[in-house]
Parts: sequence; structure tokens; C-alpha cells
Amino acid sequence: MLTPNTHYDVIIVGAGYAGLTAAHELIKASKNVLILEARDRIGGRVHTQRFDDGTYVDLGGAWVGPSQDRLYALAREFGVETFKTYNTGKSTQYFRGKVKRYNGLIPPLPLFSLLSLDMAIKRIDKMAKTVNLADPAKTPDAQRLDTMTLADWMQQQMSYDTARDFFKIAAGAIWAADPTELSMLHAMFYIKSGRDFNTLMNVKNGAQEERFVGGAQTSADRMAALFMDRIVLNAPVRAISQTEGHVSVTTDAYTYTADRVVVAIPPPLQADIRFEPAMPPDRQQIMQQMAMGAVWKCYAIYDRPFWRDQNLNGLAATPDGHVTVTFDNSPKDGSRGILMGFVLGDKAREFSALTEEQRQASAMQSFSTFFGTQAAQPLRYLDHSYLNEDWSKGCYAAVPQPGFWTSVGHAIRQPVGRIHWAGTETSDVWNGYIDGAVRSGERVAQEILAVL
Ligand SMILES: Cc1cc2nc3c(=O)[nH]c(=O)nc-3n(C[C@H](O)[C@H](O)[C@H](O)COP(=O)(O)OP(=O)(O)OC[C@H]3O[C@@H](n4cnc5c(N)ncnc54)[C@H](O)[C@@H]3O)c2cc1C
Repeated sequence: MLTPNTHYDVIIVGAGYAGLTAAHELIKASKNVLILEARDRIGGRVHTQRFDDGTYVDLGGAWVGPSQDRLYALAREFGVETFKTYNTGKSTQYFRGKVKRYNGLIPPLPLFSLLSLDMAIKRIDKMAKTVNLADPAKTPDAQRLDTMTLADWMQQQMSYDTARDFFKIAAGAIWAADPTELSMLHAMFYIKSGRDFNTLMNVKNGAQEERFVGGAQTSADRMAALFMDRIVLNAPVRAISQTEGHVSVTTDAYTYTADRVVVAIPPPLQADIRFEPAMPPDRQQIMQQMAMGAVWKCYAIYDRPFWRDQNLNGLAATPDGHVTVTFDNSPKDGSRGILMGFVLGDKAREFSALTEEQRQASAMQSFSTFFGTQAAQPLRYLDHSYLNEDWSKGCYAAVPQPGFWTSVGHAIRQPVGRIHWAGTETSDVWNGYIDGAVRSGERVAQEILAVL
């Protein structure tokens, strides 16, 4: 029974993968845990929408890939299978009014642009290797790299517009932000955190290599089912106050007390909670110097994956239009054809101003340019953005402003009294990804078990 009269060992704010993993670990260690979740569902930035005919789409996080070991381990623990993202046949590029098909990873760009792009990727990977993941401010030349934006570096590094255009598509797909919005140091940190640039970009041997049978929310659903009686839904936390002996956490309905609190929500949303006493200056700045990324997912569902008949793998990239990258998101057995297109960064904010009909028309225009007129006639179209959801305010993750890592970033995981921090943004490995969220939940549980 979840009553405000009970004193809890730990209260967890947020039932995304981070909060749920922390709860799971703490409950296994026999702690009395309460989880307060603002939404009417668990999963946070992972949300599988399921349809009556058994089809499902992941509106948020979807893929898993090599070295995302903690997420794989969780899936194994809860009996959730993975399957390979369809990746057979040619990829598609639409550039300067022409559709080109190509094999492998290298887009068919003019030779010098291609060399420039290839050099830039090798160079950024080399630079990323120098990052101190635990504290990026300790990376050699950190101050300079943290004030320079990724866009500045691209301008210096690549003299061909075409190379920059395609690097920008890749950067958009990785960060859901424009290269002008992030520092070079953050770009390098994020790349190392996820192994290297190609791993972040690729399907084969990359972060998009596999998906979950039944959708990415399935492990979260099964984990939460173990302790659903400890989760309060529709319970946004409005205030957290600390006294010498305990912490009080206030929702619209009740005030609960505990020995420790885990705040497992993205930093920009932490600013909506009233802390008493006020947070120290570094923490205040952490909440203010990060902004959520911007992305829409556009899904078109067909009776079959017709593009596969033309030896196409469903992958497309273009600098034009709203949808700049597509993937084959069909179910494992190919019983339906599902194309998913990303609208990213500035384009995502522009897309948000359109009506539903205008958004569909724009996405269908892109899909049919890439895959032929058949693509314009889906059985169903749907799109989704977390920009419009109060309890995320954007996605994939919070992006630090230039200067963040070398000023206040060192405090990203530092507890403030009895308050501890989790969430993918606090992870030094696979930061921004579901695996990073799981790791942060495990880390914060260990942090608390060491003192409780
Ligand atoms: C479109 C999209 C595509 C993505 N693709 C991938 C992918 O393919 N692979 C991958 O690994 N990652 C992907 N990600 C990122 C991944 O989904 C996130 O990194 C991860 O889910 C974050 O988990 P979390 O637990 O840290 O935060 P969240 O999932 O955001 O959990 C925080 C929870 O706290 C709740 N909350 C917020 N404020 C309050 C409050 N005041 N009181 C109580 N509760 C509150 C929220 O409702 C939410 O449930 C994607 C994300 C998006 C949106």
C-alpha cells in the first residue's frame, strides 16, 4: 500500500529505463522503494505503440547495438528477444534532384567531397579517443574544444559543401540537434561514449543493428510488472525538500518522505521542480545549460515491404525536405512493411509548425522520392514528437550548450545532500541512449547502497 504515512528508504522520480533499473536494483537489495511517475504509463522516452493487428512501432527509443551490454543483459533477464534491422540491398541517396542507389556505407559523392568526408570522420574519431569520459573537462585542450561548436569545426575541416551537407545529416541523426548547437567537446565525448562515429551511424555493427521483438518498451514493461504496486502513475513531482534527517517529495496529491531520493529525469525538466533549500549554483546551471534535442519520427505502414523487391534496404539520406534519413522498421517476419523517417534538429522545429495533413504530405513526398510512388499510399501514416510532451519536452536527449562540460559538467552525477541523479544524461557510456539510462540506474543504486 503506497501511503504518504510510510517512510520509504528511497523515492525515485521518473519511471523511464533509468528510474526502473534503479528501483529494480534497490528492491533486489531489500530496500523499501516508491516510484513517482508523471505520465499515465511507464517507459518515458521509450514508448511502443501497439495496434490491434499485432503491428507495433516505437515512438521513442528503438534500436540496440554492439557494446550496449547492460541493455542486452536486461533484455535477456526479461526474456525479450532481439532481431537484426533489415539491411540487405542498396541504400538510397537523393541529392541535387537525383536519386542514386549504392552499396555499402560510402555515399556516391564527388571524389573530393568523399575524401573530405572520410577524412573528417577519421579525424573526429581520433580526437574523440582523447576524451576523459568520467570528466570531459580533463580532456586535453578541453577549454578550446568546449567553446568551439561542431559547426565551426566542420567549416574548418571540410572545404566542400557537399561533404558538410552529408556530415550534417549524420550529425542530425546522432544528436537530433544542429551542429551549431553543440560544442566540439560534447560531440567528441558522445562519440567516445558510444564507441566511435561509425558505430553511432551504422546498422551493421552499429547502434541501429537490432530491434526488440514486441518493441523497445517490452523489457521496461516486464521489469515494472515485478513492482507495479510500488509505482504511482499520474504523479508529477512538484517539490523536493531536504531536512537533516530525511527528504520530502511532494506531488499534487501527497507529500511522501524517504531517506534518499533519486531524480531520474532529464536535467532541463529538473528545473520545473522546486527544491528546498535551493540547489547549489553548479546544479542550477546544469538544469539551465542543457536543452532537449528535437526530432520527429514519421511512420508509414504498408501491407508489405515492397522496396525489398527492388533490392533496396530502406535506408535513405538526403539534405532536402523535412525527412532526411529513413530506415526499414518492418517487424521481424516482414509481415508488414514499415518505413520510418527522421525529421531532425531545425527541421523538426519547422515540422512542428505544420498541420497533421501537411506533415503527412511532406513525409510522403520524401518517401515516394526515395522508394517510388507506391510509398505514397500507406495503409496507415503516423508521426510523433516528444517536443510536444510535457514530461520530455524534446528528444533524444538533453544537449549541453557549448561551455557546459568545462564549467559545470563535472557535477552532472554529484549528489546534493540526500538527492542523487540518474538518467541517460548522467552516463559516461552510451550517453543519450537506453543503455546509458540502464547504466545510470545501476550506478545510482550502487551509490545509494553504499550509504544506506
Ligand atoms: C524519437 C527517439 C528515438 C530514440 N532512439 C533511440 C534508439 O534507437 N536507441 C537508444 O538506445 N536510444 C534512443 N533514444 C533515447 C532513449 O530513448 C533515451 O535515452 C532513454 O529512454 C532515456 O531514459 P531515461 O530513463 O534516462 O529518461 P526518460 O525515459 O525520459 O524517463 C524519465 C521519466 O520521468 C518522468 N518525469 C519527468 N518529469 C517528472 C516529474 N516532475 N515527476 C515525475 N516524473 C517525471 C517522465 O514521464 C519519464 O517517464 C531515442 C529517443 C527518442 C525520443
